[in-house]
Amino acid sequence: MKEQRDMSEKHQFQAEIQQLLDIVIHSLYTDREIFLRELISNAADACERLRFLQTSGEALHQADTPLAIRIQSDAAAGTLTITDTGDGMTQAELVENLGTIAHSGTRAFLQQLAREKQADTHLIGQFGVGFYSAFMVASKVVVRTRSWRPQESGWQWTSEGAQGYELEPVADLPRGTSIILHLKEDAKTFAQPEEIERLIKRYSNFIQYPIELNGKRINTIQAIWSRQKSEIKEQEYEDFYKFVAHDHEGPLMRLHFTADAPLAIQALLFVPKFNWEVLGLGRTEPGVHLYCKKVLIQSRPKELLPEWLRFLRGVVDSEDLPLHISRESMQDTALMKKLGKVLTGRFLKFLEEQAEKEPERYKEFYQTYHRFLKEGVVTDREHQAALGRLLRFESSAVKAGEHIALADYVKRMPPEQKEIYFLPAASRKAAEASPYYEVFKARQREVLFLYDPWEELVLDHLREFDGKPLVSAEKASLTLETPPPAEAALSEAEAKELAEWCQKTLGEEVEKVEVSQRLVDSPAAVVDPSRMVTSTMRRLLRAMHQEEALTPKLNLELNPRHPLVRRLNELRSQDTALAELVARQLLDNARIAAGLLEEPSAMVQRLNQLLERALGQK
Ligand code: ADP
Ligand code: MG
Repeated sequence: MKEQRDMSEKHQFQAEIQQLLDIVIHSLYTDREIFLRELISNAADACERLRFLQTSGEALHQADTPLAIRIQSDAAAGTLTITDTGDGMTQAELVENLGTIAHSGTRAFLQQLAREKQADTHLIGQFGVGFYSAFMVASKVVVRTRSWRPQESGWQWTSEGAQGYELEPVADLPRGTSIILHLKEDAKTFAQPEEIERLIKRYSNFIQYPIELNGKRINTIQAIWSRQKSEIKEQEYEDFYKFVAHDHEGPLMRLHFTADAPLAIQALLFVPKFNWEVLGLGRTEPGVHLYCKKVLIQSRPKELLPEWLRFLRGVVDSEDLPLHISRESMQDTALMKKLGKVLTGRFLKFLEEQAEKEPERYKEFYQTYHRFLKEGVVTDREHQAALGRLLRFESSAVKAGEHIALADYVKRMPPEQKEIYFLPAASRKAAEASPYYEVFKARQREVLFLYDPWEELVLDHLREFDGKPLVSAEKASLTLETPPPAEAALSEAEAKELAEWCQKTLGEEVEKVEVSQRLVDSPAAVVDPSRMVTSTMRRLLRAMHQEEALTPKLNLELNPRHPLVRRLNELRSQDTALAELVARQLLDNARIAAGLLEEPSAMVQRLNQLLERALGQK
């Protein structure tokens, strides 16, 4: 023992390291548990380097020792030891690697600190400081290491912080490195195996080398996202999904892809079978984890993907990320954005492919997640057009229950048609009976039927598809093609006069009475005077108590071809009282058809009066 101590030599740390250690040792903060992630990634890096040496045929010390990471916790002694069978370090490497700042992570951290002027201790935890993070939890750190080079021998590096470190030779060390942490008084929890197991699972679960804690294997799940697709079994994918998504059944869809440009990415994304938001339990939290070389950087970061993709589960791994990503730094946010953009674009493309190749599965996806896609159209300008391609609707050209894409609609458009028409309605039946649909039916123009109350808002946001404006049937200016034969309609002059009479009779109830150019089977319809607001929008705004945004009165359109209207024109000079009742009822009927009659009692009274007249007075 004595002899060995005599052989030890004291070394000073480089000035920057002293500075760094000062900050690390004297600051208390919440994120210090990341020291374990740092030491385990160093151990994994060491194993990786050794594996490379093996494949390049170098002569190795203890060539048969399998690559592994072993962690030993000793609560009684208050120590934690992290051992690997990696490449180890020579004396010179120890001095170089653990005594000077040559490596990127720490240098970047110090530069950041210098930029921020005052040492924001809070930053440390987010940044991570590689090996030196050991001093966040340990008052004394001992490194025992033996290089892979056959002719080298073992060395021990000991430090209690900023004062410096001691180096001494040690005989008979196995290949690799052992780091012994003598935990600080307030960091003794890190000698508890439960705590260490939790941290391994959280940060280092997918390290490709076995991690054992007190002899027990902890990381049993492999980072399958980094393996070749062809080598992965379905069951492995499913198990992995259940693990990351905490789901009991397999996923609905899976996207596994790698990219090299503009960023190096390995991603494995899943769509769960079930959308938990339908249960009304609130918003789903984002579920894609961010990794760098199989080490967790951030669990489910919110900034990674647009909000409408919060239902996705899985992992994205990019070696272009700094291992010590800081949430504050602008650079990292930009990088995260770039990463998110690539992922979103790729996922949208995947959905388009699925719609093509796996229509049944896409249908199921759409039924479960259509609200998210629609939310995306409204909130995510950047991906709006791509999302538009994924929307599906029933239309007048297909059977009930069948759905088409906007692209299908466009393909069927006759050359003279410039707009895409849609009609919000409660059901197929209601859509086909709607006064607003009549002109489209008469002119054989396809109309999308929107049964989801939000869809109109969504299409308003989308504005156009493939250069063709999306127009509500209610607002469309399409008119009937051929004027009806004179005997089947009021003359232009008659119609105009009737409209004026109606306007006078209805008074405050309407903004204006017009002669309709588009009604076929209905006697009348109501429309917004500016044609800006449809009845669905009106209902939505009312439900949200936003009526101030609306013009209070509507226009009434009269169908000069309809027998009821033609009869009304005769009646007004014969029985003014009855004609007035009929005019009022026509208006209310039009309101009912538009879903805009709020208070029916006056209407019912009037209807009863009309029925009495119809049955004849006693
Ligand atoms: P980084 O990992 O970013 O290089 P660290 O501070 O974590 O920075 O580690 C510094 C250096 O010390 C590493 O680059 C490596 O050369 C060396 N090192 C640390 N831990 C080990 C280990 N377990 N085995 C071999 N070398 C190690
Ligand atoms: Mg490191």
